[in-house]
Amino acid sequence: MSMTKVSSALADVTTPEVPSLEHIRRDFPVLHQKVYDRPLVYLDNAATVQKPRAVIDAISDFYAHDYANVRRGVHLLSMRADQAYEGARETIRSFINAADRREIVYVRGATEAINLVAQSFGRTHLQAGDEILVTEMEHHANIVPWQLLCEQLGTVLKVAPINDAGELIMEALARLIGPRTRLVAVAHVSNALGTVNPVADIVRLAHAGGARVLIDGAQAVPHMAVDVRALDCDFYAYSGHKMYGPTGIGVLYGKRELLEAMAPYQGGGEMVKRVSFEEVIYSDPPYKFEAGTPHIAGAVGLAAAIDYMRRIGLDRIAAHEAELLAHATEALQAIPGVRIVGTAAHKAGVISFLMGRAHAHDIGTIMDRQGVAIRAGHHCAMPVMTRFRVPATARASFAVYNTHQDVETLVQATHKVREVFG
Ligand code: PMP
Repeated sequence: MSMTKVSSALADVTTPEVPSLEHIRRDFPVLHQKVYDRPLVYLDNAATVQKPRAVIDAISDFYAHDYANVRRGVHLLSMRADQAYEGARETIRSFINAADRREIVYVRGATEAINLVAQSFGRTHLQAGDEILVTEMEHHANIVPWQLLCEQLGTVLKVAPINDAGELIMEALARLIGPRTRLVAVAHVSNALGTVNPVADIVRLAHAGGARVLIDGAQAVPHMAVDVRALDCDFYAYSGHKMYGPTGIGVLYGKRELLEAMAPYQGGGEMVKRVSFEEVIYSDPPYKFEAGTPHIAGAVGLAAAIDYMRRIGLDRIAAHEAELLAHATEALQAIPGVRIVGTAAHKAGVISFLMGRAHAHDIGTIMDRQGVAIRAGHHCAMPVMTRFRVPATARASFAVYNTHQDVETLVQATHKVREVFG
């Protein structure tokens, strides 16, 4: 594997409108530092991605010039803040091609989005004995909220299995959709395995069986163009911080008629039209689900992140990361003792692996001293670890700013692990 190999998807484009990989890297201040006297190689992007200057500046400029509370002010700053906040909602709507900005609910992240659907849709529409179908590859964020609901309502959690490659067994999933299935909740992309699930097929199957579908898009939206109308999903959840935006802001997309029928999630200011001690009249969606002062600057930062991704191009991001994944897979596979966990035919930029006797945490720690930041652990997907009979994996994951040199440095760092563990 050549050390000088560069991404053909990005490297040959040099105009400022369509930035080169070099330009892109310059946009991320945090990347340009040494750790342990070595250049930082950041490969923990599935946990969270770094922020481009455009996002950092958008947040800082907003606080410096336009900051005020939203939806209650008559003064100029409040109106400006409101414009920025609602403008961001429109940017988010168009980014995922939702039909209406009222279908975009601001939340803290994918976790809160799924909890909202569990508590709000779940408590509105589900009864004891009704079934929720998840898969064996879900993040805890798409398991525990349903377990809580099951404890509260007596609903039943069903689990669709995966095969040894880490792919959903679709026939089994289809069989598990029965007359009591009310909701199918599935990851678009697995954070632990990288598997890209055939979510459009799952939506068709679920709808044919009369069930609604929530897609956990936390690991998809950063890496590929998502069109919620083409998918026809009922809910779609994701986090800003995994797509170059700030922490503390995320999105729940929900079909309008569903959001309208759902009970509120939390009570408080801003989610009501009228309150007396006798009666409360809730606001319309999305405000019904947005109690309290929101993360206003977070929304502004998320819109800036979307603008940034669009400037590069979603297809180019996906193509670049696919090249990095192919490079890393080929190189790691060639190293004696390396086992890749998650070998689905269709994967996004995540590679989970183990090395001989070394524990994943040892791999992570040794790599850290080489300047390579990866993840080690169960990745909040303990059932995946159980399925593959491993306590943990090491995980490298890619973003648009990673290079083929980063992959080579990862490979060199594995040699250090082999030196230590033989
Ligand atoms: N789902 C998946 C697939 C994830 O990877 C993550 C984050 N690791 C989440 C949900 C939860 O996202 P957050 O912590 O941002 O709410």
